[in-house]
Amino acid sequence: MTRLDTKDSLASLLAEIEYRNPAQPEFHQAAHEVLETLGPVLAVRPEYAEAGLIERLCEPERQIIFRVPWQDDRGRVHVNRGFRVEFNSALGPYKGGLRFHPSVNLGIIKFLGFEQVFKNALTGLGIGGGKGGSDFDPHGRSDAEVMRFCQSFMTELYRHIGEHTDVPAGDIGVGTREVGYLFGQYRRITNRWEAGVLTGKGPHWGGSLIRPEATGYGNVLFTEAMLRERGEDLEGQTAIVSGSGNVAIYTIEKLLALGANPLTCSDSGGYVIDEKGIDVGLLKQVKEVERGRISQYAERRGSSARFVPDGRVWEVPADIALPSATQNELDEKDAVTLIRNGVKAVSEGANMPTTPEAVHLLQQAGVAFGPGKAANAGGVAVSALEMAQNHSRTSWTATQVERELALIMCDIHTTCHETAERYGASGDYVTGANIAAFERVADAMLAQGVI
Ligand code: NDP
Repeated sequence: MTRLDTKDSLASLLAEIEYRNPAQPEFHQAAHEVLETLGPVLAVRPEYAEAGLIERLCEPERQIIFRVPWQDDRGRVHVNRGFRVEFNSALGPYKGGLRFHPSVNLGIIKFLGFEQVFKNALTGLGIGGGKGGSDFDPHGRSDAEVMRFCQSFMTELYRHIGEHTDVPAGDIGVGTREVGYLFGQYRRITNRWEAGVLTGKGPHWGGSLIRPEATGYGNVLFTEAMLRERGEDLEGQTAIVSGSGNVAIYTIEKLLALGANPLTCSDSGGYVIDEKGIDVGLLKQVKEVERGRISQYAERRGSSARFVPDGRVWEVPADIALPSATQNELDEKDAVTLIRNGVKAVSEGANMPTTPEAVHLLQQAGVAFGPGKAANAGGVAVSALEMAQNHSRTSWTATQVERELALIMCDIHTTCHETAERYGASGDYVTGANIAAFERVADAMLAQGVI
């Protein structure tokens, strides 16, 4: 029996997870981050531990690894590895994105899938958690190469997914273009128009309006809710944003709409600082239309902007920091810099972008900290709304979807806040999010027996 209400039992369970899942540091980190906050709930609900819930939650229901062979434009054959981890379906079909990035391995997909289980539970929308992807690098590949890769990937994946089984979407390196190629191949193989099998589709073929915007918009709404709790709002606040992909772009757009001033964006080559505030129209042109790099943004923007090669965006003083690129991009040293510069709130657009040591420092310094599983849940929430539209063969207006998104983000904020208070951790959104999500998944698992 697992009793996580003592330090010894937590340590031994984590040691067991590390032993059973060797060389998966990101998965260990994600499991550690959740489990170490569950003591208070396990102390009052011993039936969770008695039912072996913690062990079951940490073991994916199914893990699929497959070969993805494809040919480049010169006819050379490449072999990548594909993954789909179907982590937990107690609350609904597995749901979570696909990541195409050279760093992808089983441990990364497992950390993302584990996070997704809790994030999806927080939305309250009846979706389980999963994640997938490949170590394929789309950078510098032609459309035709990306299409051939996606077709090969789906030729294996299709047998494992379905609108009532497992519903993938985008993530790093997978946007509307890739979802289009994946959906086309799924339709071709299965001879079915099954729109709800993938989300993040184009608006004319089953996609939801506001899905591209949802993660970034949602994180800004979550940040605003945290600030309001402290008697402030976003108007006039300066912000630093990392990344320059889907999440970062729509984070910047929403910050501007709410009167804040986003000063930065970044990519793996460095960051841009723009004293006048990022021009989101130009950023979209460079990144979404031309598929260029942010150094080109700086070249075209004029004297207000400059590109800092290899720089760390966290060195720019601002009121708010919104990490929106990748895992572990904000470490202890960055947290010290942010605190020294007087940051008021840090909210995670990316998944696990802040190292545990950095989270600890920020919370100790009284900075409002929004964990990704709550703050960036707007994307998957609108994906679930896309599934609802697909099932009912309707399309909602942008206003309708945005209103729903705002209600969901507000609800997630309230849930995290109230749960933290209930368990004596007032203002600690990490504990609030973990316990609230855990209770939802755990209750469903208890009711469904030992499976
Ligand atoms: P994109 O592929 O659209 O953009 C990713 C951005 O992050 C790019 O600017 C990329 O720069 C940068 N980046 C990626 N990996 C690294 C790295 N190892 N080092 C430095 N920079 C890096 O992805 P998204 O915007 O969709 O996703 C960003 C984050 O948000 C991820 O953590 C994802 O899991 C999370 N997320 C996304 C959701 C969504 O709806 N899309 C939903 C919830 C969370 P470069 O081009 O140089 O690689």
